[in-house]
Amino acid sequence: MFSSLWKEKKEESSRTMEMLLTLVLFCILLQPARVSSTSQGIDQGYIDSNAGRTLQQEQDGNHQIHCSRERSRAAQKIIQEYLMPFVEKEKYHISRSCKFHPDNDLYRDQEQHKSHININEWQCGYCKKIFYEEKYLDQHFDNRHSNLLNLNQSQCLADLCGALHCDIEINSGLKKSKCNPAAAARNKHLCESLADSCFPVNDGPAASRLHEFFLHQFCDAHSCTGSRKPFSRGRRKKTNAFYIVASILLLMLLLLYYLYIYLYQRGMKRETQLLRRITQTGRKKKPS
Ligand SMILES: [Zn+2]
Repeated sequence: MFSSLWKEKKEESSRTMEMLLTLVLFCILLQPARVSSTSQGIDQGYIDSNAGRTLQQEQDGNHQIHCSRERSRAAQKIIQEYLMPFVEKEKYHISRSCKFHPDNDLYRDQEQHKSHININEWQCGYCKKIFYEEKYLDQHFDNRHSNLLNLNQSQCLADLCGALHCDIEINSGLKKSKCNPAAAARNKHLCESLADSCFPVNDGPAASRLHEFFLHQFCDAHSCTGSRKPFSRGRRKKTNAFYIVASILLLMLLLLYYLYIYLYQRGMKRETQLLRRITQTGRKKKPS
């Protein structure tokens, strides 16, 4: 009786000892991870410590930029997809005074220095550091390369979001919020002023056509009563070079496969014919 109780106690104490040991081991294992995450300092989500090139830059958090990067990006995407293909088709040159001019995007240079290498790899084009999410690269730009922003001349594209329907781009899939007549009127006004400044009607037939197009594509939908939808004139059809090359390769592979099967079957037919001939001549020879 006593011995069994003692045995149980002993087992229990050894179990607690085991648990304690694993806890200590766990803490020791965690220690270096914690050190590395603090040593990363300001660059969160940073993968490669062996950057090929390092830019020495002072961390100046003094720049207070009140321009949403996400909304600017959405606006830029809309401009590139729903406007520029039509402007290029007309061979029209947007003037510097138009807010859609590439130089008027505050984040243009930074966005151009962004490379999406892999699903989980975003590289900074200035210092070659790699991050595993785009938001960390954005933070890195804000912290390390904010002095590269052209603050003197550039404008905030996010300011045009009301006119360009950025919310549709950002919240695609979400249910549309209730229409506010005052906001719709404000956005329509902004939209029409953009059409006037970017595509002045007296600037020739191309500008006049683009002015008309812009009103249909972006401005008509700013109304709570009308049933017009934004981007009614469609978007640029994307022809990805990669898909073209891949489909050509696939087609060639398929052709090769069928050619192989055809030749194989022809070879088989010939072989059987030859065999038949041999057996026939064999049979003919036998009686003699
Ligand atoms: Zn960098």
